[in-house]
Amino acid sequence: MREFNCDFHLHSKYSGGSSDDMLLPAIARNAELKGLDLVATSDALHAGWLSHMKEKLVDNGNGVYSIPGSKTKFIVTTEVEDAARVHHLILLPSIQAAESLRESLREHSVDIDKDGRPHVRLNGEQLVECVEEVSGLLGPSHAFTPWTAVYKEYNSLGECYGRHAGKVKFLELGLSADTDMADRIPELRGVVFLSNSDCHSPLPHRLGREFNRLLLKELAFNEIKKAIERKDGRKFTLNVGLNPKEGKYHLSACTRCFIRFKVEDALNLKWRCPECRGLIKKGVSDRINELASFKEPKHPEHRPRYIRCLPLAEVISLSIGVKTLTSSRIQDLWKKFVDSFGTEINVLIDAHVSELKKVDSSVASIIEKFRSDRLQYVSGGGGQYGRPTLSGEKDVFYGLGQKTLGDF
Ligand SMILES: [Zn+2]
Ligand SMILES: [Zn+2]
Repeated sequence: MREFNCDFHLHSKYSGGSSDDMLLPAIARNAELKGLDLVATSDALHAGWLSHMKEKLVDNGNGVYSIPGSKTKFIVTTEVEDAARVHHLILLPSIQAAESLRESLREHSVDIDKDGRPHVRLNGEQLVECVEEVSGLLGPSHAFTPWTAVYKEYNSLGECYGRHAGKVKFLELGLSADTDMADRIPELRGVVFLSNSDCHSPLPHRLGREFNRLLLKELAFNEIKKAIERKDGRKFTLNVGLNPKEGKYHLSACTRCFIRFKVEDALNLKWRCPECRGLIKKGVSDRINELASFKEPKHPEHRPRYIRCLPLAEVISLSIGVKTLTSSRIQDLWKKFVDSFGTEINVLIDAHVSELKKVDSSVASIIEKFRSDRLQYVSGGGGQYGRPTLSGEKDVFYGLGQKTLGDF
């Protein structure tokens, strides 16, 4: 058996807010540079995207697909929004399974051909049934975010998935949460956590900004299924993700002016910002505090390590003080690292710091810092990303000092 780096959730150009560059050849090219062995096709219910998939992908005969000339493989996936505006991630064994699922969901959706992530007028329990019929797997996407996630709507997986809750074997943490946060919730002990990019652009600081490492015999749908079901020694061996403080919804904050609020203040203010009258959105951190029974995380034995990582372009940006990630100063150094170590994931996770220092010692020392969890962050909230800081800057909350301005 060997380990594979996998990103199970992204979006094609047919999803709202996605880049026009989100086409399979570009995704494959960038995934290879990133070091991802497998990525999601995403959006597999959309007719236009399905025909693009059929045109570009070669069936490996084991539930994964490839593009000629590229090492990166594809798994057929989609995300749907249910009747309660809850998002679910679906992994499928073939393009044919996606076509059958499309047929069964079509009558419940008005935008299945308009949006890569369609709205489906069914509940979680009904969706599990439809996905089971085509031998797929379903679990909640970005489970704790305040707009479209299972825990914004319900207090337990049982409330969402009803009598099929036991069939939900995975949960996607989302950018604003990690294993330490989610393992404070007892009902999640038996569930495998996915850390996926959910990206809308193929740029290497988006694609695979979160990913999973799986121990498998080979890249095949049934092998991945076994890892999710924790069978026959197949398993997740590592989750890599952003520090949850970088997530857009980590703290409770105003969605208009991004002032951060302590949850008790937000409650007193009835979730209205006193500065701009904007809506205060409950952060993932506060939501998990409500759901948690444990004060500290209690990791089940099967839970792998979680590395709080930073995309290489962001590391370089922090190191040289240039903000535009696509600028040539950042891109040149990015390329130098990737040329030296083969892939971005090798640079970020696997290469020895002493070797990285030979290319650039300041970048290497930031990588060393996040690998040992010593990098500090200003937290995101209200839809504004958080960011790493080397200057010791702290989170500023309403009423406890000056405002946090939208300066990033
Ligand atoms: Zn989603
Ligand atoms: Zn405000």
